[in-house]
Amino acid sequence: MKRTDFLRLIALLPFAARPKKMNAIHSLLHALAPSEKMPVLFLGHGSPMNAIEENSFVQGFRQAGRELPKPAAILCISAHWETRGTLVTAMEQPRTIHDFRGFPQALFDVQYPAPGNPALADEVKRMVAAAPVGLDHQWGLDHGAWSVIKHLYPEANVPVVQLSLDYTKPPQYHFDLARELAALRRKGVLIIGSGNIVHNLGLVAWDKLNSDPFAYDWAQEANARMKSAVLSGNSEPLVNFRGQGKAFDLAIPTPEHFLPLLYTTALQEKDEPIAVFNDQPVAGSLSMTSFKFG
Ligand code: ZN
Repeated sequence: MKRTDFLRLIALLPFAARPKKMNAIHSLLHALAPSEKMPVLFLGHGSPMNAIEENSFVQGFRQAGRELPKPAAILCISAHWETRGTLVTAMEQPRTIHDFRGFPQALFDVQYPAPGNPALADEVKRMVAAAPVGLDHQWGLDHGAWSVIKHLYPEANVPVVQLSLDYTKPPQYHFDLARELAALRRKGVLIIGSGNIVHNLGLVAWDKLNSDPFAYDWAQEANARMKSAVLSGNSEPLVNFRGQGKAFDLAIPTPEHFLPLLYTTALQEKDEPIAVFNDQPVAGSLSMTSFKFG
């Protein structure tokens, strides 16, 4: 129902039956309806420049977008929102955050004016028992979210809510928390993890940044082993990524770009098809490998 139709309907109701507060009206407007099962995406976002450049990764995002059913809302877990405690964005209109430095003005000029969805934020808070989830009114959309979602939905017409990464918690916490969100897949919510499975900025081969795909041996090994764990539905080496040896340690020097993968693999259902795309290394120590579950 359109907002105007809904408000007209409200006007027709006897006074006593009208919602008392605007937020009651709001949650009715944004209530999540049952849906077909939505896929889950893990997107390797790479450089913020992917937001405005034309390249094969962007084509991969667009292609993925074309194959998706249109969601009622997106819940995005981005590598770039780390907090103490778990928060979910609850504002009506999230701002576009330019959380980077040293890039061209054109990137700072990008706005992605997708609305928020406070009802989804409330739902996430209600569903998660693993920890209290706080409603956030300060954040918005960081580049981990908007630089890729803009290629899926260029018209910014799908509401986006972000869920933060609690940097004080171990990997198992993130995996278990994500499991509690499973029912959202059947309420029209597209869950997107945005990070990079191989992400070591300290070891970037800057001289190879604009050349053919190049990966260090350890990056190639880590990417292949992670991919095989995902494809075989074996989450153990992913959750226990610190026990997998040198290749994983080099690929995941800090966990924030890897953890969004755990949120998506936790939502993988038995015998679900998995598509791999953008499976390419960048500058030795990064990989753009992305997955679609379901
Ligand atoms: Zn990033």
